[in-house]
Amino acid sequence: SEKETPWTESEKIRVCVRKRPLGLREERRGEVNIITVKDKETLLLHEKKEAVDLTQYILQHVFYFDEVFGESCTNQDVYMKTAHPLIQHIFNGGNATCFAYGQTGAGKTYTMIGTQRNPGLYALAAKDIFRQLEASQSKKDLLVLISFYEIYCGQLYDLLNGRKRLFAREDSKHVVQIVGLREVQVDSVDLLLEVILKGGKERSTGATGVNSDSSRSHAIIQIQIKDTANRTFGRISFIDLAGSERAADARDSDRQTKMEGAEINQSLLALKECIRALDQEHAHTPFRQSKLTQVLKDSFIGNSKTCMIANVSPSHIATEHTLNTLRYADRVK
Ligand code: ADP
Ligand code: MG
Repeated sequence: SEKETPWTESEKIRVCVRKRPLGLREERRGEVNIITVKDKETLLLHEKKEAVDLTQYILQHVFYFDEVFGESCTNQDVYMKTAHPLIQHIFNGGNATCFAYGQTGAGKTYTMIGTQRNPGLYALAAKDIFRQLEASQSKKDLLVLISFYEIYCGQLYDLLNGRKRLFAREDSKHVVQIVGLREVQVDSVDLLLEVILKGGKERSTGATGVNSDSSRSHAIIQIQIKDTANRTFGRISFIDLAGSERAADARDSDRQTKMEGAEINQSLLALKECIRALDQEHAHTPFRQSKLTQVLKDSFIGNSKTCMIANVSPSHIATEHTLNTLRYADRVK
């Protein structure tokens, strides 16, 4: 199952779904699995409904995606079908972006960032990049630089520089620059892991929460390949999006929560439109509608390819949010 599916030259968007396993604690609480991966492109959701006469019935929803990953798939399996085929694209000078979308607790961070022992997609991609740099004489002089920042409430914070506030500006050539963003040169996967895992601990704690709460921020890891003259050769970005259920906080009574929710709602809507526009010639791409899409402008123009991984929980408790996630992913393409 580790064979990659190559992207054709014209293919710009790939939308996949990953179902995580039911946790032990969820099982003990009596939560049940409502998601079936029927085949590698088909996912079924069994929704329990109540009829007017109070009898219960199951409504079955069918969804088709480019790839569907079941609970037994590892980060390596997901990597091979999503980011791995994009590595060649960036070595050809292209731009690639991977998004993890979904409800809080659905597995976005597990997929994108992971841990030291179970690294996420960015680290598996870096491993491949280093391997290629070592293997090719013509690529030996290229450098790998990483940056890691978050967007919280429409503001940018550098996670590799003590959460320093950053500002995005469009230069005279309409290229978006993040002024002062720290770029760390790394020459091994071990160093990269160390830098990113440390940065991850700097993520937003939210306005109200004492506990670490990354559900309200988008985290962006960028891996750039540059030549010795500091020219960017290719770039791949990994985005661990804010929890999609937070978009509904736009209707919350608490002012701060409401503002955070509205920002997240706006950015996820704009993201969908910007990805869709990649596939449509002469489309209007609404970059400016959110900070997220503004800073990722390069990901939606020119020689760019995008992969979205919609993460879902298998639990019946999450039915409504899971349906929202699947419908969102369905409309991206
Ligand atoms: P999110 O970032 O979307 O809020 P997390 O990535 O933090 O969600 O995942 C929530 C919990 O589920 C974590 O404890 C994580 O380790 C676990 N988990 C997520 N995906 C998987 C998976 N594919 N296999 C095993 N455990 C997973
Ligand atoms: Mg997370």
